Amino acid sequence: MSKYLIVGGVAGGMSAAARLRRLDEAAEIIVFERGGHVSYANCGLPYYIGNAITDREKLLLQTPGSFRQRFNVEVRIRNEVTAILPDSRSLQVKDLASGRIYEESYDKLLLSPGGSPVRPPIPGIDHPAIRTLWTIPDTDAIRAMVDDGKVKTALVIGAGFIGLEMAENLHARGIRVVVVEMAQQAMNVIDFEMAALVHRELAMKNIELCLGDGLEAFGADNDGSPVARLASGRSITADLVLLSIGVSPNTGFLAGSGITLGPRGHIVVDEYLQTGREHIYAAGDAIEVRNPLTGKQTAVPLAGPANKQGRIAAGNMHGGMRRTYGGTMGTAIAKVFDLDVGMTGATEKFCRAENIPHGTVIIHPNDHAGYYPGATMMALKLVFSTESRKVLGVQAVGYGGVDKRIDVIATAIRAGMTVDDLTEIEHAYAPPYSSAKDPVNMAGFAAQNILDGLVGSTTWDTLAKAGESFRYLLDVRTPAEFATGTIDGAVNIPVDSLRERLDEIPRDRPLIVFCRVGLRGYIAARILAANGFTDCTNLSGGYETYRVATASRAPHPLTAPPTNDPGAAKAMSPDTKQSPRIIQVDACGLQCPGPVMKLKQEMDAIAPGEAVAIRASDPGFQADAPAWARATGNIVREIRAEKGIVTAIIEKGGASAAQIAPAGNDKTIVVFSGDLDKALACFVIANGALAMGRKVTMFFTFWGLNVLRKPEKTTGLGKNLIEAAFGMMMPRGSRKLALSRMSRGGMGGILIRGIMKKKNVPSLEEMMATAIRGGASIVACQMSMDLMGIRREELIDGIQVGGVATYLDASEKADNNLFI
Ligand code: FAD
Repeated sequence: MSKYLIVGGVAGGMSAAARLRRLDEAAEIIVFERGGHVSYANCGLPYYIGNAITDREKLLLQTPGSFRQRFNVEVRIRNEVTAILPDSRSLQVKDLASGRIYEESYDKLLLSPGGSPVRPPIPGIDHPAIRTLWTIPDTDAIRAMVDDGKVKTALVIGAGFIGLEMAENLHARGIRVVVVEMAQQAMNVIDFEMAALVHRELAMKNIELCLGDGLEAFGADNDGSPVARLASGRSITADLVLLSIGVSPNTGFLAGSGITLGPRGHIVVDEYLQTGREHIYAAGDAIEVRNPLTGKQTAVPLAGPANKQGRIAAGNMHGGMRRTYGGTMGTAIAKVFDLDVGMTGATEKFCRAENIPHGTVIIHPNDHAGYYPGATMMALKLVFSTESRKVLGVQAVGYGGVDKRIDVIATAIRAGMTVDDLTEIEHAYAPPYSSAKDPVNMAGFAAQNILDGLVGSTTWDTLAKAGESFRYLLDVRTPAEFATGTIDGAVNIPVDSLRERLDEIPRDRPLIVFCRVGLRGYIAARILAANGFTDCTNLSGGYETYRVATASRAPHPLTAPPTNDPGAAKAMSPDTKQSPRIIQVDACGLQCPGPVMKLKQEMDAIAPGEAVAIRASDPGFQADAPAWARATGNIVREIRAEKGIVTAIIEKGGASAAQIAPAGNDKTIVVFSGDLDKALACFVIANGALAMGRKVTMFFTFWGLNVLRKPEKTTGLGKNLIEAAFGMMMPRGSRKLALSRMSRGGMGGILIRGIMKKKNVPSLEEMMATAIRGGASIVACQMSMDLMGIRREELIDGIQVGGVATYLDASEKADNNLFI
């Protein structure tokens, strides 16, 4: 009969014990555990503190009694192994209850002692309110402090997985949480721009995140609460401090055993998980593992690998089921408030540090079909080898579907697949679950396009670091999107008009194109390449990634303390007054400016006092909706973001809106002129007024109608000879307008357009589109149209045809009336 001893009674140890019993019914199996619990759910501990798990018993998956009953394994809790004596094949054990020291012999031994949270030897560290979270007693102590109601503020040191899980769970208990992290980003295992999404989520939940600041010492204030002194000189007082700054392996008791330890104290094992000493195996957080991507040794403290290693080690100890362990890639996921943050394999910074030739691509797909309710956008960054085309790693951050993509790509990496293989992965698809092209396929397509030379890629940090002079930055989003913000120095030419406006783009500089997420940027890059622009790259992840990665980390405006601006306060704080009728609108899946346009459309259709409850998956909508409401005199009744869905309830301003936008401050403009400069002036004024939340009516009459003409000829309108001739003589649309002075046969107009572009002034067409999308009422004078033989079909979309009454009605509510 074989005798197996196991050190450590949680993940690796108990997996091995159960497997050994299943392989050998007759064996004697003893587990030594220095703590009071075995097989507990340490991964669930933060959620018990936060009350997501309310039943403490559910954390205790097994007890010594239940393990004995099911597996006939003897579990000795509160028994600490103090030394290994390989020569005599025995252990030295201390019974912590009695203090008795004894020896126990083995045929085969498994070491799965795990690790312990680091407590740096700094002054004041022994304060009772400074805790770590690793065991059931740790959990009980922290929960008791929280239950007591005395913890109003908590300081979490370390923004890794456990630190952020604790931040969330302490916040869930109504505690104000500050997180301090020495690195320049949270979750240092992922790349910065992906972590920036975590920073944004924390800001939205009003968690203060102090990056790049280290803990120096602890003191205490007059009430006895711990005060953390940081390297920056800042002091933070808290009722509870949670240290979550790393784990070190519990291998001190191996001193003198002849078992080889790595540079950081981890047990060195071979591919069979056997230590250098015969009959002794090891598993879990305490061992070094091979990184399959580099072949180098590393340590990865995760439950999945620990459990699987325990199972493999058991088979190898038994001898009948020998298997090798293939290494650990660090596949991990964490919930950070509403956000899911997952990764596997190599990051970009890892590849840089290891000098691995690599490429990256960032995409922002929906987790399922955008037209099916509840779709949310994720950011997915794929890292691949530029030599072998193999997938090296992936990171994904989003509000749904992250785990599935991480797991699929982890499997692909393990199978040695290339980006080409990703394009063909056949996934289960129906609208509630995915899209016909899953994010995994999309990542493959994007990487394949880069590797096949169809498009070059520029990363946000290269762009952010580079000076403006060396390149031409082209924003190919719509004018309305451009108007909501862009990258400094970018020129806006929407992708749909790119082919007609190629002559506006210089050929003497590198060209970087971008759109919201990268897809239209790719299309634009292809158009440009086909037209001879040889040095053209697409911004990876588009404006979305750039904006988040370069954003300042101020708390989100909606969760920031109320300002002194009464208008702002009104718009931000929910009002308790209930609206009589609320129209439900789903704008999920729409990207900026879709949700705002949809909101406006719905608001236009309701009466004052009624409200629209709109749901959008565009994260920017959380800022856009209140801004829009404020500018338009409507009232934000409620705004919240949950699981990536922003829900805003906006009440149509009536009498109450007058406080924000008093009646009588509308603007009306009669556009009589058909000159380019005068038309420009009209739209500059109109857009300025719209931005201030004013209602604008533009009445186009006589020559002004030419501004609104479509550029292409409309046939089949049944015009008579005079009407047709008149139409031919007049400029057809805004692009054909000339300057009122210095026209010089049209050269003046070309010149002024060139200067505007250089100075990043939007073109007349972009200003017109912005005005239309911004809600300007553009009225073509019916009487002038009749006189000049212009038909509605010849005019651009988004306008109305009206009479002078329409204009006069508007002008009565205006405090400013211009005739241009
Ligand atoms: P452990 O599970 O730590 O077990 C080691 C045991 O050995 C301990 O109970 C210890 O008391 C005992 N021991 C040590 N030395 C001796 C000795 N000399 N004599 C006797 N007994 C000894 N991982 C994930 O993958 N996902 C997660 O979401 C996740 N969340 C976590 C949340 C928290 C709060 C914590 C603490 C960990 C989390 N982990 C998570 C990590 C995961 O729990 C560990 O990777 C895993 O438990 C490691 O298993 P192990 O067997 O190596 O060590």
